[in-house]
Order: sequence, then C-alpha cells, then structure tokens
Amino acid sequence: MIERLESLLKDAREELAKASTKDLVLQAKGKYVGRKGEVASLLKDLGALPPEERKSAGEAINKVKTLIESEIERLLSGFLESEKEGKLRKERLDITLPGRFVRPGKRHPVTQVMDEIEDIFLGLGFDIAEGPEVELDYYNFEALNFPPDHPARDMQDTFFVGGDLLLRTHTSSVQPRVMEKKAPPFRIIAPGTVYRRDSDITHSPMFHQVEGFMVDSKITFSDLKGTLTHFLRSLFGSRTAIRFRPSFFPFTEPSAEVDISCVICKGTGCRVCKGSGWLEILGAGMIHPNVFRAVKYDPEACTGFAFGLGVERIAMLKFGIDDLRLLFENDLRFLQQF
Ligand SMILES: [Zn+2]
Repeated sequence: MIERLESLLKDAREELAKASTKDLVLQAKGKYVGRKGEVASLLKDLGALPPEERKSAGEAINKVKTLIESEIERLLSGFLESEKEGKLRKERLDITLPGRFVRPGKRHPVTQVMDEIEDIFLGLGFDIAEGPEVELDYYNFEALNFPPDHPARDMQDTFFVGGDLLLRTHTSSVQPRVMEKKAPPFRIIAPGTVYRRDSDITHSPMFHQVEGFMVDSKITFSDLKGTLTHFLRSLFGSRTAIRFRPSFFPFTEPSAEVDISCVICKGTGCRVCKGSGWLEILGAGMIHPNVFRAVKYDPEACTGFAFGLGVERIAMLKFGIDDLRLLFENDLRFLQQF
C-alpha cells in the first residue's frame, strides 16, 4: 500500500510539473483526486486490509491526497492570476484621453425670465396665482368688461374651443377668478401660458404672460408707476428710463402703455427700437369699475391697478434674440447659449 502511495505521489507530481495549461491541471485533478480518481480507488481498497492496518493506511492516503490537492490549488491560482493580468492588460485604460463632457441641463430662456420676474414681485410682497388655460368666455372677456359684441374682442385673435370655452388670450382672466374668492387688500401676479391666432417673427400662437394686480382702498396711479419703475429697473438695470403713454384696454381706466429706453442703443435710436430710442414693454392701468362690479366689489370703496407683460418679448430684449420662433424650436445649439 505504501509503495502504491509513493508511486502515485511521484506520478502526480511529475504530471503536474509538466501541466502547462489550466486544462491539463484540471485533467490531472480528475485523474488523481477526483471522485473516480486513483486516490479514491486506494481508499476503496482499504477495506481489504487487516483492521489494524486500516487506520494508518487511511491517514497516509489522506496525507498524499492533501499534498496533491494543495499542489493543484497552487497551480490553479497561478493560472487565475495570469488570466486576470491578461484581462487587465487587455482592458487597460488610457487615462491621458480627455474625458467625455457631460453637458449640464439648463433652464429655457423663457423660464429664466419668468423666474426672474416672479422673484422681483415676490420681493415686493406679491403672491402668485394661477388659472386654467382652457377658460370660460366669461373670465377671459365678459368679467373684464368686454361685452359680447364689444369691438375690443377683435384686438385678440381667439382660439375658440366650443360652447363657452376658449384658450385664454391673456392671463388677465386670473383677475376676476381671484377677486371672486378673495377680499382686498391683495397683491397678486399670475404667470402662465396664453394663446392667440398669430404667428410671425414676433408672434407665436402660444406664449407666456405675467399679469399683476393690486387692490386696496387707496391705490393710486403713483403706486402703479412706482411698482413698475422698480420692476423694470430691477430687470433691465437701474439706469433704464421709463415712460407712460396713454392707451386703451377695456379692463383698465385710465390705461397706459409703458416704454423703456432701448436696451440695445440706450436711447440713441437703432433698428430694434425703429430709431425711436424707446421699446414698448407692457400695458397697465387702474382697474375699471366694471371689473369690480363683476366680482361684487364696491367700485366706490376699492381701487387697484393691473398690468400685463409678454415674457418672450422681455427674453428677446434681455438676450438679444431677434426671432421669437427660435424660442420654440427646441434647437439645443440655440438653447445652450443661455
Ligand atoms: Zn434702440
């Protein structure tokens, strides 16, 4: 038995020493210490030995088995190591290559301007209100002192949805909605999307407005001028000149068109301001008594002002964009500039 063991160990060592691949080592493993290998068959033969020899023979077999197994283990882990090295060599990273730039997302220029406008008015103590974009004729026109056949309705090319519904043509529709639910005093801005049947380089069928209104008992035109002057100078710079021109809107009386000194030429005259040095920037006025009547306020006791502005126009002036349609084409080359 001892002789058989010794020659087995010798054969196994020789074979393993010659095994140049992982497969050959695994083959030798099966042959010597596998379930049907030579060590296993020696163990089977143990039963044929006299009982007093079995224990020491069993121990000798197991010792040889352990020796062979540990040699196999050493060889296999060597192959594993070189396999890993080969893999690492193949997957070598060239850390001198420039990285791939991940472009961070940016807010749309219209959103940027909208946020800036909101921040200025929040700083003045205004609250934000919203209303539906699919609006009732009543809130878009009638409650704002546009009677059914009033010619002023022609000033706005409306998308009608059917019945009494339309796509709101201005965020002024939020005025009567808020007033119906709230008693003065309050200061509100209503930013949002509006729709008109208009499309060219300065008009889009969908655009954004911010409506603002303030109601109390002793609001005057001076409050309106002071508020808008502060707002426009915060937005366009403290040296911006501002002028108010008489105008007409059904829901304000008196009404004014507000201009700022041209942001491009600083008032000397250019193509953008058509040589006048001024840019029309928003419409405003004192809230018409009929608007107060529509929401059951006492027009003798309440006074207030309202104004509305187009966000795209302000974005175009601030960023020097000359075609409104660029804002809605989702061309990343354009949008990434802001
Ligand atoms: Zn100009």
